[in-house]
Amino acid sequence: DPALGSLGKSRAKFISAEETTGVTFDDFAGQEYIKGELKEIVHILKNEEEFKKRGIYCPKGVLLHGPPGTGKTLLARAIAGEAGLPFFAANGTEFVEMFVGVAASRVKDLFASARSYAPSIIFIDEIDAIGTKRGGPDIGGGGAEREQGLLQMLTEMDGFKVSTSQVLVIGATNRLDILDPALLRKGRFDKIIRVGLPSEIGRLAILKVHARNKYFRSEEEKETLMRELAELTEDFTGAELQNILNEAGILTARKDLDYIGQEELLEALKRQKGTFETGQEDNRELPEELKLRLAYREAAVAVLACYFPDPYRPFTETDIKSVGTRPNMRYVEISGRIFKRKADYVNSIIRACAPRVIDEEMFGIDNLCWISTNATLEASRLAQFLILQTGMTAFGKAYYRSDRDFVPNLAAKLEALREEYMRFAVEMCLTVVREYRSAVETIADILLENGEIKAEEIWDIYKTATRIPQPAVRP
Ligand code: ADP
Repeated sequence: DPALGSLGKSRAKFISAEETTGVTFDDFAGQEYIKGELKEIVHILKNEEEFKKRGIYCPKGVLLHGPPGTGKTLLARAIAGEAGLPFFAANGTEFVEMFVGVAASRVKDLFASARSYAPSIIFIDEIDAIGTKRGGPDIGGGGAEREQGLLQMLTEMDGFKVSTSQVLVIGATNRLDILDPALLRKGRFDKIIRVGLPSEIGRLAILKVHARNKYFRSEEEKETLMRELAELTEDFTGAELQNILNEAGILTARKDLDYIGQEELLEALKRQKGTFETGQEDNRELPEELKLRLAYREAAVAVLACYFPDPYRPFTETDIKSVGTRPNMRYVEISGRIFKRKADYVNSIIRACAPRVIDEEMFGIDNLCWISTNATLEASRLAQFLILQTGMTAFGKAYYRSDRDFVPNLAAKLEALREEYMRFAVEMCLTVVREYRSAVETIADILLENGEIKAEEIWDIYKTATRIPQPAVRP
């Protein structure tokens, strides 16, 4: 097709155009359901005529939203690659300039180019730059300009005749909340897909994609190393995972080694963490008293986590670095379906009492401090949830949410039962803390010394602790 030859030299230089991207769905890993949805769209795009006969039209717009680096651009390119269609990409921020009328004419240009190669795909990254809610706060000026760009885009999208050839518009944003609702109406971006942070399984899949072209000692070692890395990278994006592998490759080359090993991966991980934790980490030294209280809080929470282990969410370590009001214990991510039993709920209430119980036990009722207040709040909330929304307590086999106002004496009944659960939980928690007092102290000492402690060490201390028998608590 001679027309395609000029594609790369698009009239407007802010648009990048490709005959097609060559990217496939195999390049995007994790979050399989997203691919499922998009595959369906690609299928319709490729067999348009056939679907049209059956009265099925392809969505006009797909909006991908989620944090940066989660693969939204990659997905858009994969759609084009899978469908084998030309790909026109622009960035919302490039539309908006100080000259009035530029945004609107750029939007027009983009759609005109794409239409002349239809069927084709338009990708607009950071679409929020032009698609901000009208009448909202005008951050950085250019409000009128942006509004014209937005109006033009709405016109273009509405202008697509279903009878003429298709242009699929894919938008990406990490600010769904500020997008003008007009954009999300039917016939515009009528498919909205959230691209979130990958789970541990997702991270492993992403790591495997990016490890494909890298050298490891053996397939088995690669598998083991990637599993380890996936476990250590909670809250990392796909882009960050890719970075770690690249960085590890560079370190390997610098050391003149043939294969990427554990040491290089861990070093690369540390560097990646270093870049994204900057500014978040609180490096100020904690006051001594707070440190002591935090160490005891963490120790008590840890011992309770051993006594009433959460089968669905084992812990991995704890530290006393953060002054946050929640315990600093880290957990393995929840995976798969969870069938919580009543005992699991009750145990979680007991565990949540630990900060308050140890604070009182160590420093006395008149010396409580705010780090235990929030824990008490959480325990109460958990109790309320169990009572009101699970139907597992004497409160009844009902689920109260919107009809609360109509239940007579609901507040009093709830309070009475919550009081009962809380009393039991606090007593149970206190019993465990007293019985395992020596374990609590040992763990707190280690925390004060090292600042952190791993789950295995906590378990060892817990199992070998000298216990002081306590009277049984009756429910
Ligand atoms: P976004 O558009 O959401 O900011 P990108 O698509 O630009 O993210 O992601 C940057 C790079 O990170 C991608 O080109 C890809 O190499 C990698 N990446 C991100 N998410 C994934 C994923 N789910 N699977 C494979 N690679 C990914």
